Formats: sequence, C-alpha cells, structure tokens
Amino acid sequence: MNKTTAAVAITRCATYSKEDLTASLKLILDEGGMMDVTDKTILLKPNLLSDAPPEKAITTRGEVVEVLIRLLYERGAKKIYAGDSPGIHTNHFIPKHSGIYDAVVNSGAQWIHFSDETVMKKIPYTYGRKLPLPAIIDEVDYVFSVAKMKTHQLMYITGSVKNLFGLVPGLHKSGSHLRYPTRESFSRLICGLYKVNRPQFSIIDGIISMEGAGPANGVPRYTGLLLGGREAPSVDTAMSVIMGVDPLTVPLLETLHKKNLTDFDRLEDIPFPLLSPSDLVIEDYKRIDQDRQTNLFNALIGPFFTRKFKFNHQKKEPRPIFIDDSCIGCGRCITICPGKALSFSSDRKISADYKKCIRCYCCHEVCPADAIEIEQRE
Ligand code: SF4
Ligand code: SF4
Repeated sequence: MNKTTAAVAITRCATYSKEDLTASLKLILDEGGMMDVTDKTILLKPNLLSDAPPEKAITTRGEVVEVLIRLLYERGAKKIYAGDSPGIHTNHFIPKHSGIYDAVVNSGAQWIHFSDETVMKKIPYTYGRKLPLPAIIDEVDYVFSVAKMKTHQLMYITGSVKNLFGLVPGLHKSGSHLRYPTRESFSRLICGLYKVNRPQFSIIDGIISMEGAGPANGVPRYTGLLLGGREAPSVDTAMSVIMGVDPLTVPLLETLHKKNLTDFDRLEDIPFPLLSPSDLVIEDYKRIDQDRQTNLFNALIGPFFTRKFKFNHQKKEPRPIFIDDSCIGCGRCITICPGKALSFSSDRKISADYKKCIRCYCCHEVCPADAIEIEQRE
C-alpha cells in the first residue's frame, strides 16, 4: 500500500525581524499543510536546553515562538500554551535569559511548568519503562514541536523528534540516559516518546543554527532557513540533509524508519513544495564525528545489562574533559550526571571517574562556562 507522504516546507528567512518571520512562517504553515486550528488548544514545545541568551543559539529563538503564537491566534486558535523542562533548572524556572518567557506572555500565550501535573505513560520500545509526562499533552488538541537546528554530541543532530525529550520533567531525563546509554537504545526511547506523543506540526529554527560541539557548546552559524511540516521525522530528515549528514547514519532517524514511524521510504518520496534540501546542503557545516558502531551487539543491549556490558564499548567514545581554568564551580555537571561519575576534589576542581561515565554528554550540555570539552579521537 502506498503511504501518503506529508510535505516539508523549507524557506529562507534572512533575520529574526517580525516582518521576515511573519512572511516566512506563513509560507511554512501554508505549504507545510498545517491543519485548521480554529477553536483549538495548542501546546508549543520550544527547545530550551538551558535558559541561555539567544545569541548562543542553544535555544529556539523567542522571536520565532512569538510570531508563531501570533499567527496561530490570527488563524483562530483558542488557547496556546508553551513550555519546556530543562534538566538542570528548578521546577518553576522562568526562561528569562533566552527571551522565551517574554515572547510567550507578550503574544498572549501561557507559560506552563511541565512538572506541575504529570501522567505516567508507558513508553514503547523500552521494555515496559514508564515515564512522567506533562498532563497538558492529553488536554490540548495539538502539540507543535518548535525546535532548533543543531548538532548533538550523542545523537549527531537534534531537531523536532529529539526535542520531545524535553517533555520528560527535569532530572528524570538523567535517569533515562543511564538506562538507555547507547545511541541505539536512547533512540528507541525517543522513538517511544514520539509514538505516545506525535506532534501534529513541527517547525525548526535554522536561521542561526549551531554547528560544532552541539547541542550546548557549539558555534552559532548563520544558515538563514526555516523548516516545517506535519511529520516531524520528515522535517528532521530534511534538516539532516541540509547539515550534510546522511539521515540513515543518524541512529534516531534510522530507528524511526525501522519502527515504521516515518511516512516515507526514501527522501525522494517527501514533497518539498518550496526549497529542496538537496539544493541547500552546507558542505562545510561542522558536524559531529560519527561512530558507525551500529551493530547487533549495540542493537540488542537493553536497559537490563547496559551498565555491565557497556563500558568496554564506551571506552572508545570521546570523553568529557574538564577545564579547570574555565570552571566556575557551579556543580551543574555533578547534579545532572546520571553515572554519578563526577565530584568536586578537595581543591574544588571537577574530578571524573571515567569507569562510571556512560558518555551521555549531559555535563557538556549544561555547563554554563564552556569548561567541558569533548576529547577528539585520533
Ligand atoms: S561525566 Fe558527563 S558524559 Fe559522563 S556520565 Fe556524567 S554527565 Fe554523562
Ligand atoms: S565544569 Fe562546568 S558545569 Fe561543572 S562545575 Fe565547572 S562550570 Fe559548572
């Protein structure tokens, strides 16, 4: 049976000005086939890895969120919520530095704390694992993933589907890294999250994206693009092509495909009514060095045996290195580390026990001082 393949709209957007964003987002919503939102309630899930200033390109830009909210209200939406739950911040944090909170309230939407009311959901593909997810996802008519185009040390790239991991409140995310430490097992977890909560529309902010050591310590790069469509895996596939990464070498995209969670078989099946990603490939984009270790051993390692068997394999993965001169001693890396591999030494330097380190790179993601580097392999 032929699948009906949803379109992915890609357009240039020169700046984060209201005028440019309004024109480009209208195109994305129309050509990406956005559903009728009249009288609908909507949850926006921006990528708010940490409440970093917008110029660092760690978060979805507030301007994108604000213009999107205004457009959705113009099109008849009844009520719009926005929220995220970064691992390191407290339950009731307000994302002031990133500008996202102001963007949300200035445009008439409501900021929501994901940890306030949660429901336990069984996550497919995880051997029965249950995770708390914000109750609001069952209350709204539509969820929009509003992600950022970035590299990602563990997943190689992060876009619309990986953005859903932020639905898991706070430090519950760290526990998930511990149970699913390989790229393959973590991809299965994210696929499960996607299956229980498929966003009805996905938008990626690729105006200023992040290359290099993403998702938190990379370098902002002007790429001048917005992407959007009904099917998050298709939107991420297009983004991957633009970043110069073969989508089927990205474990998450590969797993989505294997689990029949994509609505296309080949890139050629996806309609691109505006720009085609093949014409937008950024050859010199600074990508994450890929480890093609996908094999039967990795694929079969489940949560039961991971701690025991994983370490030999993980020793080959790049490890986080702690730069004493840059460290401000905030302790965020220690708090978030799922392997309990980090501690302060007596002179308050970070001490790492690499036998416990599962190479999840959460420490690297949350460090506010660029004091953690990922060791490059020879
Ligand atoms: S030290 Fe960093 S990479 Fe290693 S387990 Fe802890 S958070 Fe993950
Ligand atoms: S390495 Fe980074 S996150 Fe860890 S204590 Fe130092 S500044 Fe904080």
